[in-house]
Amino acid sequence: MIDVQVAVIGGGPAGLSVALECWRQGLREVLVIERDNMLGGILNQCIHAGFGLHVFGEELTGPEYAQRYVNMVKETGIRALTDTMVTSIEPIGPGRLDGCSPEKADAVVDGIIVRAMNTNDGLLEIRARAVVLAMGCRERTRGMLRIPGTRPAGVYTAGTAQRLVNIEGFMPGREVVILGSGDIGLIMARRMTLEGAHVHGVYEVMPKSNGLRRNIVQCLDDFGIPLHLSMTAVKIHGRDRVTGVTVAKVDGSLNPIPGTEEHVSCDTVLLSVGLIPENELSRKAGIEMDPRTRGPVDKGGFMTSISGVFACGNVFKVYDLADNVTTDSVLCGQAVANFVMEI
Ligand SMILES: Cc1cc2nc3c(=O)[nH]c(=O)nc-3n(C[C@H](O)[C@H](O)[C@H](O)COP(=O)(O)OP(=O)(O)OC[C@H]3O[C@@H](n4cnc5c(N)ncnc54)[C@H](O)[C@@H]3O)c2cc1C
Repeated sequence: MIDVQVAVIGGGPAGLSVALECWRQGLREVLVIERDNMLGGILNQCIHAGFGLHVFGEELTGPEYAQRYVNMVKETGIRALTDTMVTSIEPIGPGRLDGCSPEKADAVVDGIIVRAMNTNDGLLEIRARAVVLAMGCRERTRGMLRIPGTRPAGVYTAGTAQRLVNIEGFMPGREVVILGSGDIGLIMARRMTLEGAHVHGVYEVMPKSNGLRRNIVQCLDDFGIPLHLSMTAVKIHGRDRVTGVTVAKVDGSLNPIPGTEEHVSCDTVLLSVGLIPENELSRKAGIEMDPRTRGPVDKGGFMTSISGVFACGNVFKVYDLADNVTTDSVLCGQAVANFVMEI
């Protein structure tokens, strides 16, 4: 059994900022647990610039931004376990808020058990006075969209393609159609083009893109990639590999308009259709979830419905900018430190 004051689950910008703030506030037993083989979270694969303008007053790439926090963590006594996956959290003692305010909640006197595993230690049990959920978010998949058609290879979420190109050094395809105009899709339209692929267009079901204006200009307009608004995919074709997509215009209720179908030949479809907080652990622990944000309900000061369990970053709600994740996570770190020092 490892005993710590704070266990942070996830070593992305949220987890690292919380851990650093806990350290700055005087806590000395802080552990970050990260399933990937390095700290930094999703920003390690975001090699484009645009990070750090708010926090550092300069424009950094994702890995540069993440590395600043990794370096700051290394200068402290914060412990980090990488390659380690948390599988469950369980409060010991009367930890549940059951809807009342954190002030009225019984303090978790015995702590929270975090179960994790890695190849060196096998199953690990960590007892923490407070736990911070900082597991980030995941992308919506084809299954969630229910696009009709066959199930060939070549359909990826934009983030998976980003990891393949930027970290694994592998091109997922050459003739690309992008569904959804979220920022990750826009950034991948440019990235795939720079790597030599032909991006046929970005198809957005809504009448306007929800991507940042700067990304539409710098990632699509500057490369002559068309953005087709009020259009969606109605069928994916191909047996072993994608051979094309049928797209169609949609009406005001987002239903495809018969007779407007067009066939686009391609070997790859990238989906950029939204992010969802990564909350398997939270749900399994019985934490009350907010159906609007799909993250844990905030009972005040980033605390979830289990006393001593906090949530921040994209696991709490999906943020537009990593800088805002950092700013809020510092506040969360202060709340966690106050909680631990009071019990
Ligand atoms: C594909 C993609 C691209 C993005 N691109 C941008 C961008 O260009 N600009 C921008 O501002 N924002 C971008 N975002 C949003 C981005 O998620 C946030 O800005 C920021 O990275 C969120 O920080 P976080 O720490 O909450 O999450 P993450 O950075 O996602 O970190 C969460 C960490 O938790 C770890 N983890 C999850 N579950 C477990 C577990 N059970 N056990 C142990 N570790 C676990 C993960 O491995 C991960 O390292 C992107 C998001 C995605 C998904």
